[in-house]
Amino acid sequence: MKTTKKIVLSEDEMPKYWYNVLADMPNKPLPPLNPKTRKPVTLSDLEPIFAKGLIEQEVSTERWIEIPEEVRNLYRIYRPTPLVRASGLEKALDTPAKIYFKNESVSPVGSHKLNSAIPQAYYNKIEGVKSITTETGAGQWGSAMSIACKHFGLNLNVYMVKVSYEQKPYRKAVMNTYGANVFASPSDTTEIGRKMQQQFPGTSGSLGMAISEAVEEALKDPNTKYTLGSVLNHVMLHQTIIGLEAEKQMEIAGDYPDVVIACFGGGSNFGGIALPFLRHKFAEGKDIRLIAAEPASCPKLTRGKFEYDFGDTEGYTPLLPMYTLGHDFEPASIHAGGLRYHGAGSIVSQLRKDGLVEAEDINQTETFQAGIIFARAEGIIPAPESTHAIAVAIREALKAKEEGKEKVILFNLSGHGLIDMMAYEDYLSGKLGDYEVPQSIIDESIGKLKDLQPE
Ligand SMILES: *Cc1c(COP(=O)(O)O)cnc(C)c1O
Repeated sequence: MKTTKKIVLSEDEMPKYWYNVLADMPNKPLPPLNPKTRKPVTLSDLEPIFAKGLIEQEVSTERWIEIPEEVRNLYRIYRPTPLVRASGLEKALDTPAKIYFKNESVSPVGSHKLNSAIPQAYYNKIEGVKSITTETGAGQWGSAMSIACKHFGLNLNVYMVKVSYEQKPYRKAVMNTYGANVFASPSDTTEIGRKMQQQFPGTSGSLGMAISEAVEEALKDPNTKYTLGSVLNHVMLHQTIIGLEAEKQMEIAGDYPDVVIACFGGGSNFGGIALPFLRHKFAEGKDIRLIAAEPASCPKLTRGKFEYDFGDTEGYTPLLPMYTLGHDFEPASIHAGGLRYHGAGSIVSQLRKDGLVEAEDINQTETFQAGIIFARAEGIIPAPESTHAIAVAIREALKAKEEGKEKVILFNLSGHGLIDMMAYEDYLSGKLGDYEVPQSIIDESIGKLKDLQPE
């Protein structure tokens, strides 16, 4: 029997609006707080750090927000992305489940990150900003921001988590090729970087530290703004183009997902694919499960606590209501660098608290097993981050087989792993182990949050 392998939309069918779930959430997220006053942040608190257009989106409750034409024109370089029936994977698993994936790895930088990098550079550009700073974990966000800044003629300084800087030299070369400056974080360039090196000698760095450095630099110059690749509401908003396209494509395929799965770092690709489907649950009571897949070594949604916490290590960002492991939690240096973040975006955290999204944590070796099954069945080598989504999709497909049930599974392939081959090399040569965080370590770092909570 012939099944359609790939469902593609024409450029004209690309969505013209992003979907803002804040319009439909039964309980809105609690407001971010100014760490000094413990009062909700004001726009003037945020303006030294972020472009105004992005701050407006951060707090907007409009359901549909128009995608500017210049942004759509750049999206056209790689969008709409294909929805693919994972027929090879279905066969390899011998499952009655139908598995689909949205292939975000086709973007020029190899991941979904460009979906938000382009509009973030755009809104900064139209406000006259000259320079951008940012952090990057595995290098995916930095790569995306590098080409987005080049498109709009902006200068870019990237603070790259040290362990990735060392493990992934090609990602740094990608950023340099697009014209960005890249520093290993913690660096000697910022006060906080120097302090971190003293406090944690030999540290492999973390996203939280890198954010602190990038924000410090933005605060020092009015023509420099900071951008963040995940966690914040406006980033989720931009990423909803993934789910909005997938919604149309699933309709063409004649199927509707029972379960939508994505890996989870700060929540942007998960929110991107899942929130447009969640809207059907709000509007029509659709029975649909949304599962976030996170690493067992950084399990904020499954073992963290819902509290106010900083987005970075040093406490430069506002206090955000989120599931967190504590801002000074130091995740093990797993290969899925993009998932080594202590917290989760406020929107997804609130949805999780309200029981509207689920989460599963997975060990590193299970994710690479899943990645290799997928690579051999579908021909695409997934990013180490994306293998977490694949692992949960495989769990769901095998459950369907056990139960002898048909089921439609949709997952997001957030990126390819062709610049992460060292990770596969380590796995294939038996060098990778699993790391479960001891409860005492989580308790200790979460315990320190007590003083940050509002009265
Ligand atoms: C950054 C990244 C992630 C994690 O970030 P989210 O904001 O949670 O999506 C996942 N996959 C890839 C390929 C990434 O680059």
